[in-house]
Amino acid sequence: MRTPVTIIGAGLGGLTLARVLHVHGFPVTVHEAEPSPTSRMQGGMLDIHDYNGQLALEAAGLMDEFPALVLEGRQAMRILDQDGKLLFEKTDDGTGGRPEVQRGELRQLLLDALPEGTVRWGHKVSGTRTLADGRHEVTFDDGSTVVADLLVGADGAWSRVRPLLTDVVPEYVGTAFVETYLFDADTRHAATAKAVGGGSMVANGPSPERSINAHRESGETLHAYVAFTESLEWFAAIDFTDAAAATAAIAREFEGWAPEVTALITDADTPLVLRPHYTLPFGHRWERVPGVTLVGDAAHLTAPNGEGANLAMLDGAELGQALAAHPGDVEAALAAYEQAMFVRSETPIDEEALMESLFGDEIPPALAELFKTS
Ligand SMILES: Cc1cc2nc3c(=O)[nH]c(=O)nc-3n(C[C@H](O)[C@H](O)[C@H](O)COP(=O)(O)OP(=O)(O)OC[C@H]3O[C@@H](n4cnc5c(N)ncnc54)[C@H](O)[C@@H]3O)c2cc1C
Repeated sequence: MRTPVTIIGAGLGGLTLARVLHVHGFPVTVHEAEPSPTSRMQGGMLDIHDYNGQLALEAAGLMDEFPALVLEGRQAMRILDQDGKLLFEKTDDGTGGRPEVQRGELRQLLLDALPEGTVRWGHKVSGTRTLADGRHEVTFDDGSTVVADLLVGADGAWSRVRPLLTDVVPEYVGTAFVETYLFDADTRHAATAKAVGGGSMVANGPSPERSINAHRESGETLHAYVAFTESLEWFAAIDFTDAAAATAAIAREFEGWAPEVTALITDADTPLVLRPHYTLPFGHRWERVPGVTLVGDAAHLTAPNGEGANLAMLDGAELGQALAAHPGDVEAALAAYEQAMFVRSETPIDEEALMESLFGDEIPPALAELFKTS
């Protein structure tokens, strides 16, 4: 008898879990707040690593389909200074272990691999509680409820399932991205397209508190993250609902930088979007609570470090595999999953291995310093 699994959140973590459970014959339902798979832009490119994200896809039986999503040439990298001078360049020879895909296409691959109706769209969870019999009740914002034999919170940073397990809440880390897009860049923004090149570009200025990062997505789309170290109060002084005023305020911070680089701000085709970075306490754990657990950002949110989506997928895959490996003993499965997940979440990123995988041994040490994640 396979326990029915109720998952909250159809992000990459929840969907990977749903797919692995489906492969192993578990009945599974995913409740997602968004009204449909296409109701929101799914964000930019993700590099899916051979040591975590790809292992999850293997467990999901989707590695044959994955290569079709990979965008060729996107592992190339350029580093510029604020004058647009090229400091470092690495081409993509197709052998890197971090192939780049569009997040939305990866999500769709997982959705297509689930039986019709698995995801209940437009089901936003407003609360959860433990019932007298130990099971968990989930309440949606339309007032309806479901009772879960096994409940998994895959509902991201502001999880509504997490309070069943722990009181920790995300805290602002002091950095943020301002996100912009340029469309049809090769024709409409040729100098900027050239500066970004075929993969990613980082432009660093004199202060480590400002940089401009961009990536060539599918087609001729450039996606930029303008990176700041500033307080939330500093950002509150900028009215992001006034697109022109926000653009002017952000552009002012990069006065004197090469225009082909600052065009990622001044010529943006979309209103600027502020994305502050939050984290849960590093290494936090919770005591085992019967019938409920968390995967991905809900469990171990960190500021973006290139691993979050990959780890969410690996969590989902490992939880699905643990449930399949402990037939009839959900608690043993959850304990085994959480033990490995906690250890993984407490393991600091291996900076040297990261540098090696990004740049090989080509990058000058002074530049490598700029890419340290802590
Ligand atoms: C700017 C930025 C850039 C990043 N770049 C990278 C990168 O390059 N590589 C990488 O690996 N990671 C990256 N990350 C991290 C990555 O996005 C996350 O770690 C990853 O998305 C976590 O996946 P998840 O499935 O746990 O949660 P999410 O992707 O957040 O999915 C959660 C899902 O739950 C749904 N949900 C939320 N609340 C409710 C509710 N109350 N009821 C029902 N449904 C709900 C949401 O709509 C969503 O669909 C980046 C993050 C940011 C902010």
